[in-house]
Amino acid sequence: MHQRRITKAFTILESESTQIKKTIHKLQVIRIKNRKSFNNELFPGKSEWVCDRYVIEKNTIVYLASLILHELVHIDQYDRGVRNIHGRAERKAYKIQAEFLIRHGRQRDAISILKYFEKIKHSKYSDL
Ligand SMILES: [Zn+2]
Repeated sequence: MHQRRITKAFTILESESTQIKKTIHKLQVIRIKNRKSFNNELFPGKSEWVCDRYVIEKNTIVYLASLILHELVHIDQYDRGVRNIHGRAERKAYKIQAEFLIRHGRQRDAISILKYFEKIKHSKYSDL
């Protein structure tokens, strides 16, 4: 079930622009923890994304694809030498994720992640 949902999400990403397609191979491992919650963490140096099972099971496929895209932006940033994936790097990841969601008709999701970003940028990510 996880595999099928992840494959569908990647299929959507593969139909995106060349810029996005070029980064898809950069995420090599998705490790799913058997936890009924939505926590997830990226290890860009290992090209690995670790997430709780609800991240894969409970989100829509488009939203899951947008999360993967967000992490691909960070892995790409890491490959370019960015070591602080917060701050400006985070702004870019949210922007690309929101644009993707809007392209796929998920304006409401796009607005809520941008609102979330506005909320966190003043606390944790103070260099914005
Ligand atoms: Zn991020």
